[in-house]
Amino acid sequence: MAYLASDKRYDTMKYNRTGDSGLLLPAISLGLWHNFGGVDTYENGRAMLRRAFDLGITHFDLANNYGPPPGSAETMFGQMLATDFKPYRDEMVISSKAGYHMWNGPYGEWGSKKYLIASLDQSLKRMGLDYVDIFYSHRPDPNTPLEETMGALDQIVRQGKALYVGISSYSAEQTAEATRILNDLGTPMLIHQPSYSMLNRWIEDGLQDVLEKNGIGSIAFCPLQQGLLTNKYLGGVPEDSRAAKSTGALDTNQVTEEVIQKVKQLNDMAAEREQTLAQMSLAWVLREGRVTSALIGASRVSQIEDNVAALNNLAFSSEELTKIDGILKG
Ligand code: NDP
Repeated sequence: MAYLASDKRYDTMKYNRTGDSGLLLPAISLGLWHNFGGVDTYENGRAMLRRAFDLGITHFDLANNYGPPPGSAETMFGQMLATDFKPYRDEMVISSKAGYHMWNGPYGEWGSKKYLIASLDQSLKRMGLDYVDIFYSHRPDPNTPLEETMGALDQIVRQGKALYVGISSYSAEQTAEATRILNDLGTPMLIHQPSYSMLNRWIEDGLQDVLEKNGIGSIAFCPLQQGLLTNKYLGGVPEDSRAAKSTGALDTNQVTEEVIQKVKQLNDMAAEREQTLAQMSLAWVLREGRVTSALIGASRVSQIEDNVAALNNLAFSSEELTKIDGILKG
């Protein structure tokens, strides 16, 4: 059946300003790294996209290599755009990236201009788009001058193939330098996409200060630590979980007794707050407004609904935050 977006889609979502830019992002964004590839069920992916959009999620995050196979998430997303979301293109913020291995030979990964420009052209074709809203350098390249990688981002904006640019997984120092180069070129750095969750707090050690000082937004990937920071693994590794799947990026040996002990205590705290653990984990990432958006993944519609309802309680008392720190240090 043809899709008609809910007319209530903007009623409850919260939109945050991305750094000092004009762009607002939903507090919860949806990434298509898993569950939207050629190995996945098309109808499930489409149902998730529809529900997400109906709940006010306007931002969808992709990359050249998402699948598997690589490229298939962008192809699937392109089909869904064509059939369902064409009338809503201007209500959506669509991102893609290049940095990891995408094709064979010396020009299929990392940060050269040769790779980034060609990769974005391929992504645009797969998605059937004239431009993406945000294009990222997916990871820092130790062997390419930062001037070249940032020069490619600047060129992409000038060519109209992306409206904004960002970087992912760059250190605080690399981010400061990349921002200086982009500023000199006259293209602002919109956003950084780092990993961030209660179990992975590296950005608090310098990166967040660089971002705030330079008016750059941030979107946290794996805010649920790929599902570990939910109630999913409390009783073992379920068969239908990412950890159990051969195509999943979460290894069962990351589901350790030590981690689960902490997760159990966090789960009890979430219950006291009358939230699910997934909701508390997302609220924690978004606390104090230091992160623009929490970039979730999902394998089913109900998870998206559960996660968006995190917005019903984003506040933490200082006692709660101290208690969480204690559990994490545990
Ligand atoms: P999350 O940490 O949100 O993990 C998502 C997984 O957690 C889901 O697939 C699901 O696992 C489980 N889950 C989600 N919601 C719930 C819930 N309410 N209850 C129980 N389980 C739940 O993020 P991802 O690891 O998926 O990453 C999100 C996005 O971040 C990616 O799609 C991508 O866009 C981006 N990303 C960027 C990277 C980069 O280098 N820039 C690297 C990695 C990700 P299950 O499948 O087991 O049901």
